[in-house]
Amino acid sequence: MKRNKNSARTGRFVLLPPVKGACQECARFHDKELPHDKGSIFYQMKFYMKTGRCPGWKDAMSHCSDEMKELWTAELNKKGIGI
Ligand SMILES: [Zn+2]
Repeated sequence: MKRNKNSARTGRFVLLPPVKGACQECARFHDKELPHDKGSIFYQMKFYMKTGRCPGWKDAMSHCSDEMKELWTAELNKKGIGI
């Protein structure tokens, strides 16, 4: 692979793993039943590197139970945050 002088902008980006005990998706400490921290830069970068797009709340809570999704969706809606 040819290296160019702009490789810092176009080169590979590597994320270091989160600290032990932290969520391996968002690098925050939260119960597994709860959504990932959508505001976590680690989560945003890891998700983007996997999918090519930024994560939304639906992505952050995709692993949650239906009950937890409904609860979080209702609370986000109360704050005027649509998902
Ligand atoms: Zn998480």
